[in-house]
Amino acid sequence: MGAAALIAVLVSGPVAIVSAMHEELHALLPLVESIERIEIAGRCFHCGQLRGRPVVLALSGIGKVAAAATASLLLDRFAASELLFTGVAGGLHPDVAVGDVVVARSLLQHDMDASPLFPRYEVPLTGRSRFDADAGRAAALAEAARRCRVVRGRVHEGLVVSGDRFVSSAAESSALRSALPDALAVEMEGAAVAQVCSDFGRPFAVLRSISDRADDAAHIDFTQFVAEVASVYTRTIVDDWLTGRIAR
Ligand code: SAH
Repeated sequence: MGAAALIAVLVSGPVAIVSAMHEELHALLPLVESIERIEIAGRCFHCGQLRGRPVVLALSGIGKVAAAATASLLLDRFAASELLFTGVAGGLHPDVAVGDVVVARSLLQHDMDASPLFPRYEVPLTGRSRFDADAGRAAALAEAARRCRVVRGRVHEGLVVSGDRFVSSAAESSALRSALPDALAVEMEGAAVAQVCSDFGRPFAVLRSISDRADDAAHIDFTQFVAEVASVYTRTIVDDWLTGRIAR
């Protein structure tokens, strides 16, 4: 590691890694050394070192409020310098299949609607509906996913939409596809984390393995997918992503 990189690591806070699901957090924890656990607001924060980099891992719980609360604690109480969210999502775009990986370039809350006071999807008083992930981190994450031998599907980069709804009918997913044709995937946390990170001015990235097509069969094999596929994707990609950055 060069001197500049070493100084950057020493002065910055930990990398926060947030998982929506238990199985993913548990896939990552064995990689973390010298773990200290701190409990706040019913959440357990696992602080330690991953490939020599200070990290803090947490389970967000499901939905926008749970994700926003977790992100706020990580950025404020733990002074995280950046945040990576990993989880599963439903594929929306016709090209996005189960087993693919989606890296968010921007995120939007598909259930935000304060119209006619504000345009549909706009977060009131921010003037924005789309929040961008950090471009460099997203690109590095997509590269790590493409290098990852366990990933059988394709790797996509683009818009991810979030809302407090498990989208599990063909009618609902096709309505979302028509309203937001560039949306690649739908989940329940990413855009909330994006808004919080934007408030704090800290960079973030979102990695999603596609567990379903957000249609009538969305609930089938979900648990098995998370345990057997998504957790392995997450562990391998996050490990490569962090290792690659330290080597640079
Ligand atoms: N059956 C699960 C609940 C999963 S809720 C359990 O018992 O734990 C869905 C989770 O996966 C959320 O964290 C969400 O971000 C993501 N997700 C996957 N597919 C989704 C879809 N079709 N619609 C919305 N969120 C989805």
